[in-house]
Amino acid sequence: MANKGKPEIDRERCKGCHLCVRACPTKVLEPDSEPNSWGYYPAKAAHVDKCIACGNCYAVCPDVAVTVYKL
Ligand code: SF4
Ligand code: SF4
Repeated sequence: MANKGKPEIDRERCKGCHLCVRACPTKVLEPDSEPNSWGYYPAKAAHVDKCIACGNCYAVCPDVAVTVYKL
């Protein structure tokens, strides 16, 4: 059975670079339409059900704003 995962983004840590959005093979992540308190538009886990726990988003984030939980 395929791995299932759940990414969590720390909105206040996120700088809105969206490297994680591009790195996700199953298009779980997308830019949020609401800015954080710094004025950045953080990534959000819009389609959590598609997460395969590959860890790409965690690996590319320069600000350590992503945690991936294996389910
Ligand atoms: S890679 Fe990190 S800092 Fe960049 S958008 Fe994703 S969570 Fe935010
Ligand atoms: S762990 Fe992989 S599949 Fe899940 S959100 Fe991150 S990049 Fe996408």
